[in-house]
Amino acid sequence: MLKNSLSIVLRTTPAKIKLLDLMGIKTVEDLLLHYPFRYEDKSEVRTVNMFNIKELNNSRGRLSPIKNHLTKFGKKIQRATFTDEEGGTIDCVWFNQAFLATQWPVETKVMISGKVKFAMGKISFQSPTIERWKENQVHTGSIVPTYHETDGISSKWIREKMRGIVSYSSEFEDILPEEVRQQYGFPKKSKAIKSVHFPDSSEQLEKAKQMLAFEELFILQLSALQQKKLWSEQDGATGIPMNPELIKAFQEELPFELTGAQKISLYQILKDCEKTQPMLRMLQGDVGSGKTIVAAMAMLAFLKNGYQCVVMSPTEILTKQHYENLSILLSDYSSVLLIGSLTAKEKREAQENISKGAVQLIIGTHAVIQDAVEFPNLAFAVIDEQHRFGVVQRAAMVKKSTGPVPHLLMMSATPIPRTLALTIYGDQELSVIDEMPPGRKPIITKVVHPDARRQATLFIDDQINKGRQVFVICPLIEESEKLEAKSVLQEFERLKEFDFPHRKIQYIHGKMKAPEKDEIMRKFKEKEYDILVSTSVIEVGIDIPNASIMVIEGAERFGLSQLHQFRGRVGRNDMQSYCFLYTTNREQRSIRRLTAMAEHTDGFKLAEIDLDIRGPGEVYGLRQSGLPDLKMANIMDGRTIAMAREKAQEIIDEDVSLSRFPVLKNLVEKAGGFWKA
Ligand code: ADP
Ligand code: MG
Repeated sequence: MLKNSLSIVLRTTPAKIKLLDLMGIKTVEDLLLHYPFRYEDKSEVRTVNMFNIKELNNSRGRLSPIKNHLTKFGKKIQRATFTDEEGGTIDCVWFNQAFLATQWPVETKVMISGKVKFAMGKISFQSPTIERWKENQVHTGSIVPTYHETDGISSKWIREKMRGIVSYSSEFEDILPEEVRQQYGFPKKSKAIKSVHFPDSSEQLEKAKQMLAFEELFILQLSALQQKKLWSEQDGATGIPMNPELIKAFQEELPFELTGAQKISLYQILKDCEKTQPMLRMLQGDVGSGKTIVAAMAMLAFLKNGYQCVVMSPTEILTKQHYENLSILLSDYSSVLLIGSLTAKEKREAQENISKGAVQLIIGTHAVIQDAVEFPNLAFAVIDEQHRFGVVQRAAMVKKSTGPVPHLLMMSATPIPRTLALTIYGDQELSVIDEMPPGRKPIITKVVHPDARRQATLFIDDQINKGRQVFVICPLIEESEKLEAKSVLQEFERLKEFDFPHRKIQYIHGKMKAPEKDEIMRKFKEKEYDILVSTSVIEVGIDIPNASIMVIEGAERFGLSQLHQFRGRVGRNDMQSYCFLYTTNREQRSIRRLTAMAEHTDGFKLAEIDLDIRGPGEVYGLRQSGLPDLKMANIMDGRTIAMAREKAQEIIDEDVSLSRFPVLKNLVEKAGGFWKA
C-alpha cells in the first residue's frame, strides 16, 4: 500500500495531485516521508488578554461566521471575531482566502492560533489557523506539525490528508538492525513515522526524530566506511618503510622548518605508505599552510626507490607553478609537465615517456588522466585542490596505473569542519594542517566603499614605492569569460589612466592563451609589473610571495570562501599584507560576508560564518554533489554523526558486505554513489 499512488488514495482534485507531484510526492510513502519542518506547541492556551505580539498565540473559543469584505483597493479580505472562553474578543483578518467564508458560515467552536498585530490602537489576529474544536480534543494534537508548503498546498491541508493516511505507516519496515534499535532505545520505524506527524508527547516526538535522523546518517556512514574498507582491502600498493635520514637530509636543504602540524601530517602519510594497502587520505589545510611541501616530502622515498609519482591540479597556471617548485625541490629525479596547452609533439613525447616509465615525477592537469597516458610504475598520486575534481577523476587516476595501486593523497584548502568532513570525506583518512608557518602577519583587511577609494589608492601607491606588488581582482561576471575579460581590460585602462598612471600594470584573464599567461605570471614573479589585474583565474594556489596587496573590485559579488581564497594569495611571507574589499556602493560595506572578512583571517572561523549565513548545502554544494538528501538529520549534527559512525564501523568491521542486513545493504549501495565513481 505504501507504493500506492496518491491519486487513488487521496480524496482530492487532480490539480492538488499535480501540485504534490511537483513537490516530488507521488505515493503514500512519499507523503508519509514528507516530514514537518517545525512544530507548534499549542499546549499553552491563552486568553486574549494574555496575547503577546512577538509570539504565536493559541486560544480556544467561538469564531463568528467568516465574511468576505472588499477593500478600497478591490482586494478581497475575510473578517471574523473570535471570543475566548472568558469573553475576551479579538478581530481576525485573512487575505484573499474567499473560500473561508464558505467553509465557516456559522459560529463555530475553534482552536485558533497565529500571530497578532497591533494597529489603530488595538490588536488583531493576522491569518490565524483555525481548527474545529471538540471537548475531547484538548490533550491530543497539542503539538502541531507544520509542513513546507507551496502555492495551493497549505500545511493545514497536508496535515488533514496526513491524518487520512497515517495508518499506512504501520507498513514501514525497520531498516536499522534490531540490535542497534534496541541499544539506543529507538522506536520502530512504523511508530517513529507516525509520531513525527502526530506526536502524543514531546518526548515521543524527540525519540522519533532521533531515530529517523540516526537512520539516515547511519546509512551514509555505512556507505562511506564500506568504501573505505573496500579501498584499503585491495592489496598491491607499494609499501616503503619510513626513511628518517632521507627526510632529514631533505629538511636540511629547506630554508624553513616544517610546522608541527606539517610534521604530524607528514608522519601520518608516511605511516600509511609503509603498508601494501593503498592510502586514501585527505590533507586539509588553509591557503598558505604549506601543503605542497608535505606532499613533496611524502613522495621522496618512492622517487628514491624508482617509482613514479603524479601531482594533478585543476588549472594550468597552478600546475605550472607546481612544476616549477617541485622540479627544483625534487631535482634529483626526472620530471615532466603534462598540460593541455603543450604542442601535440610535446604532449606525445611526455605521454610516451610516462608510459615507458622513463620519467618519475609527473605534474599535470586533467591531461594526466587522459586516454593516451598509462603509468606502469605509479606508487603515489596527489590530487591538489581536490574539490575541483570528483570521484570520477580519482577513479580514473587509479585506473591509469597498470602497476601497483597508488597511494592517494587528496589536498584541499576548503576548511570543512571536522563534523562535516566525517561525512563528506567519510571514506578517507583525514590529516589537518591547522597551523600557519611562523612569522606570518595576519592580513589587514578593509572594506572600502566608493568614497574611501582615494585614500586606499594613496596607501597602495606608497606600498608600491616600498617595492610591494599588487593583485587587482575584477568583479565576477557569472558564466561569461568574454565579459570578464572585457571588465579586466576596462579596469586595466582605468588604473593606468587615473589611479596609477606611473606604475607598471599588466592584466591577465582566462581567454588568453596559456603561453601568454605563463609569460605574464613569470614576469610578475620577477617584479616586472607592480600591479596585475586579473579575473578569478588566479583564485587557487598561486604563490607570489612579494605580492602583498590584494584588491578585490565588486567584492560584494563574491562568496565568503572565494574572498578568503583570493586573500590567501597575499601574506605569503613575513611582510605585512593588506586586502582591500572595494564595494560598488556605500551601503554594501555592512554586508556580513565582508565584515566577517575584515574581522577574521582564520579560514575555519570564516567557514563557520559562511555556514551560518548560507547553510552547508550551499557552502559545500551538497545539493549538486550526489550526497543523498537528508530529510530529518542535520549534516552538522556532530553527536549523532559520531554515534552513527561508531556503530557503522562496528558493523562494517564484522561484515563489510552487510550480508546479514539485505534491506540496509540495498540502501547503502544506493547512497554509495557519492563516494564511488
Ligand atoms: P598551500 O597549503 O596553500 O598549498 P603552499 O604549499 O603553496 O600552501 O605554501 C605556501 C608558502 O609557504 C610557500 O611559499 C611555501 O614554500 C611556504 N612554506 C611552507 N611550509 C612552510 C614552513 N613550515 N615555514 C615557512 N614557510 C613555509
Ligand atoms: Mg596549494
